[in-house]
Amino acid sequence: MATTGKVIRCKAAVAWEPNKPLVIEEIEVAPPQANEVRIKIVATGLCHTDLYHLFEGMHKDGFPAVLGHEGAGIVESVGPGVTEFQPGDKVIPMFTSQCRECRFCKSPKTNQCEKGWAVDRYDVMALEDTRFTYSKYLVNTCFRIFFNQNLMSFRFSVQHDGKESRFTCKGKKVLQFMGTSTFSEYTVVNQIAVAKIDPAAPLDKVCLLGCGICTGYGAAVNTAKVEPGSTCAVFGLGAVGLAAVMGCKAAGAKKIIAVDINPEKFEKAKVFGATDFVNPKDHDKPISQVLAEMTNGGVDYSLECTGNVGVMRSALESCIQAWGVSVIVGWTELHDVATRPVQLIAGRTWKGSIFGGFKSKDGVSEMVKAYLDKKVKVDEFITHNMTLDQINDAIELMKHSKCIRTVLNISPE
Ligand code: NAD
Ligand code: ZN
Repeated sequence: MATTGKVIRCKAAVAWEPNKPLVIEEIEVAPPQANEVRIKIVATGLCHTDLYHLFEGMHKDGFPAVLGHEGAGIVESVGPGVTEFQPGDKVIPMFTSQCRECRFCKSPKTNQCEKGWAVDRYDVMALEDTRFTYSKYLVNTCFRIFFNQNLMSFRFSVQHDGKESRFTCKGKKVLQFMGTSTFSEYTVVNQIAVAKIDPAAPLDKVCLLGCGICTGYGAAVNTAKVEPGSTCAVFGLGAVGLAAVMGCKAAGAKKIIAVDINPEKFEKAKVFGATDFVNPKDHDKPISQVLAEMTNGGVDYSLECTGNVGVMRSALESCIQAWGVSVIVGWTELHDVATRPVQLIAGRTWKGSIFGGFKSKDGVSEMVKAYLDKKVKVDEFITHNMTLDQINDAIELMKHSKCIRTVLNISPE
């Protein structure tokens, strides 16, 4: 390829500072170094976690950055040591890696990887208080209670190694978000965080399998391990929650209660298999009591997909004592989550789930196949298609809960 080994100048949406619109800029994307893959992004979704970084987390050290972690594209070139990928391969860049060698990757108990977010880079920013690397320093959880599969909160550690930045703009280093940065025509990702997918897959659809859909679906199937005939409740009906509804249905749940403060979401939830609908605003009593009355004591499984700690508590307390399982999927690092110990002593289990418990490379390739085999829905999540130039409109739609997923079409396939 004419661009191999060269810096590529291309368009990207740069988040210069928190709480401000993104700016379409020309950026420079460095050639892939050892074990890296440079990807032409074809399409990307916009997930609430991107908004979280921009409007809620707002740590100044996390800017300027190129956001976006729900993309799909085509390999443009590869760095030394890359054997798994070739230019032209269709791929999904992943925010969770799978090195296949570390003790987490070798364990069937987790989808985490000790080498995540480019362990040897300094230009990758994290979701919390620094922009630096993640990995061996991992593990500092917000909630350790009955926590047996997944981690939700990471601490990060500084590790400068003098390597060049992957992105620059106007002479300034631009940080990479979650190791991916898909709001750009090109990005560079470590090969351990790239999933090769079926060449038949339409990238402007399967990009959504890079985050939201796998996250919600897997939270039900892999983390909660929903059983046939059970009763479930899903709190929050964005793409993540709707995918959780789809997962509950695929697992054979007989009653799936969809909970959202925006009743416009209920029609869509029906499409994915929800059987009952509850708007907390319609009730004077706690939502856990409403659900307990609907289900003879509480649901077998609840999935929290809002990122609100009050909802996390309600979701736990909506579970039946003795065996109820509640999974936290929504993201926040700003607040503590609380409940009375008796809720857990009585036999409820509280878990967290990152990327739906899927080992990233394996899980995404399988989910792409499941989509091509018509076993999981993807198209139904897309409510809007836009271009990269319209990204601020897409952000406004999500901010005001007016979309499920907007797909930004960045380059033709
Ligand atoms: P979204 O903004 O599209 O959807 C959130 C939904 O929650 C909306 O429909 C909103 O009306 C509803 N909601 C808000 N407050 C509520 C309340 N009090 N009660 C009931 N419903 C309420 O977001 P999304 O993209 O679907 O993401 C959902 C959450 O999942 C976010 O917190 C996101 O950061 C998180 N997330 C986590 C992971 C992970 O790996 N754990 C991955 C992706 C996203
Ligand atoms: Zn996401």
